[in-house]
Amino acid sequence: MPIAENIINIISELNGKVKLVAVTKTQTTEIIFEAYQAGQRSFGENKVQELIEKHEKLPKDIMWHLLGHLQTNKVKYIASFISLIHSVDSLKLLQVIDAEARKAERVIPCLLEIKIAQEESKYGLTEVEVIKIVEDPDFLKLKNITIVGLMGMATFTDDKEQLHKEFKKLNTFFQTLKQEYFLNQPSFSELSMGMSGDYKIAIQEGSTMVRIGSLIFGDRVYS
Ligand SMILES: *Cc1c(COP(=O)(O)O)cnc(C)c1O
Repeated sequence: MPIAENIINIISELNGKVKLVAVTKTQTTEIIFEAYQAGQRSFGENKVQELIEKHEKLPKDIMWHLLGHLQTNKVKYIASFISLIHSVDSLKLLQVIDAEARKAERVIPCLLEIKIAQEESKYGLTEVEVIKIVEDPDFLKLKNITIVGLMGMATFTDDKEQLHKEFKKLNTFFQTLKQEYFLNQPSFSELSMGMSGDYKIAIQEGSTMVRIGSLIFGDRVYS
């Protein structure tokens, strides 16, 4: 698999306008290092255990992103180094991230994960739940997290119209939130949407950050 070539092609396609998170779940540290040597610095993982093992072994200037569901009892393992948590889905989790970030003497950037797919199993918040969080007085007390935007995973489908619809809806909600709750916070600027199968559509609908795995590394092998 020509990893370097794949990365270079995708980066040139993104044209400096959209950020690339290379999704490395199930990939070995050797493979990740190959992508690193091609210049890639942002990598995304789904599981905390896998993330900390890879963080230990690989160069320290890598920016690690957590994409998968995060349990509150695992936050402490990543708080000192995580660059961006894409999968925040409750106020409780935000409070734990804030507390661990304070211990680590830093501010952790987070995205709120929004449920946009039709599938039942996907994690994420509804729009109503997000409004409840950002209006909660307890949310306003949090000083060691910063919400820098939203993340969403579309339905796993070939139906382009459906994908356009889901990404467009997420972008509309993102703009509304920005206007109504984050106007004085310019760092609220990231819309993480788009994977190997649907990133072109996501970009057309305003994505600022795509999360691409199999298109760079080939099919994942789960052992
Ligand atoms: C695995 C995964 C990706 C990347 O998926 P590909 O289809 O391999 O590009 C992106 N985002 C999340 C949340 C993932 O779990």
